[in-house]
Amino acid sequence: MKGQTDFDVLVIGGGLVGAACALALRGSGLALALVEANEVAICPTDSSWDSRIYAISPGNVAFLTRLGVWQELDQQRIAPIEEMQIWGNDNAALDFSAYEAGAPALGYIVESRLMLAGLWEELQEAPEITLFSSSPGSCLDLQEEGAVLKLVDGRRLSAALVIAADGGNSWVRAEAGISVTTSDYRQQGVVANFVVERPHRNIARQWFVEDGILAWLPLPGNRMSMVWSTSNAHAKALLALSPEALAERVAMAGGDALGSMQVLTPAAAFPLRRQDAEVMVSPRLALMGDAAHLVHPLAGQGVNLGFHDAACMARVLMERGRQTDVGDYGLLRRYERARQLDIRAMQVMTGSLQALFSSELPGIALLRSKGLSFTNRQQWLKRRLIAHAMT
Ligand SMILES: Cc1cc2nc3c(=O)[nH]c(=O)nc-3n(C[C@H](O)[C@H](O)[C@H](O)COP(=O)(O)OP(=O)(O)OC[C@H]3O[C@@H](n4cnc5c(N)ncnc54)[C@H](O)[C@@H]3O)c2cc1C
Repeated sequence: MKGQTDFDVLVIGGGLVGAACALALRGSGLALALVEANEVAICPTDSSWDSRIYAISPGNVAFLTRLGVWQELDQQRIAPIEEMQIWGNDNAALDFSAYEAGAPALGYIVESRLMLAGLWEELQEAPEITLFSSSPGSCLDLQEEGAVLKLVDGRRLSAALVIAADGGNSWVRAEAGISVTTSDYRQQGVVANFVVERPHRNIARQWFVEDGILAWLPLPGNRMSMVWSTSNAHAKALLALSPEALAERVAMAGGDALGSMQVLTPAAAFPLRRQDAEVMVSPRLALMGDAAHLVHPLAGQGVNLGFHDAACMARVLMERGRQTDVGDYGLLRRYERARQLDIRAMQVMTGSLQALFSSELPGIALLRSKGLSFTNRQQWLKRRLIAHAMT
């Protein structure tokens, strides 16, 4: 770590989004720093399968490739999604295929740990980025002329712009006094990996069932990853099951589509909520990733939105006139405006689907199955949905 303490841009939070943002700003000529509260495992010694997995869109695969990260990941641990099948009530189904979309894949399933290690490996090799890991901030002072961050070890870092990528419970956002609107889905996302009896054929399967939204995502070989968004009580019951009983329960919920199962990585659960920051920018500050917005995981788009934020911020900062201060509020508003539509569209889409499929109002079940069957017949609508999900 270098001794420098004055920067143009200070990214706080070195998760997937903050790390990608710092890398995307390389070559801008700006003095960059990344502050991460925890130690990040760069060479994971553990070869077990991370239960935290992401479906990364082809557009973001291209972004991570431009950052020099994707092509360095162990491709044996990544699975393409060649088809997506969605079931509602009464066996009503909707399917999308990469073949129809004229693309090699609709997305790629990758472990969180693998991707984070790949991003941090690249960060270690970037001389223009000063890294402060295991260094949480203790105090942030945002002034008209610049920002000063004090770390818990007493060091003081200054910058013209602070980018907050420190997750859904963002400390930076709270320090800046930016409020959030939150709506609790009263659900947990239960995740676990399994070995399955029958080949999954790189198909991502999703069921809107009574117990919530169940997704089976392909992992390489005869493995698959589950995300079951379900009520708090049901999540608790699933976590209390023995591995054998959990495998049986999950196989049954998916109609034994892949035969019998065995638990590969034990279940873990994440509380689900929708959350919007009141603003994405304020003088000398921009929020991105989960610090700015949380969406329901049913469309697997949270980190994808965050990568779009990172790419957009890099573009806005790089395209600014040389004379423009990077923390200029007008410039930051340009970033906020550019991101609004994508974020709103995803929030409305995931929020409405979640509400539609969790409602018990009379007649809703019929509407749901008619809606899925109708969408499945509309090729133009399917093409538009795919095109959006693939960016
Ligand atoms: C069950 C579930 C399944 C999901 N599946 C998908 C999926 O398939 N596809 C998808 O796109 N998204 C998915 N998501 C969403 C995705 O997990 C998040 O959108 C993504 O991890 C957000 O990344 P981030 O970098 O913004 O935040 P985080 O991953 O939370 O990273 C924040 C970083 O900031 C650091 N930090 C925190 N406080 C400080 C501080 N004070 N100082 C310095 N550093 C700090 C943390 O240590 C961390 O490293 C899912 C979410 C859930 C709950």
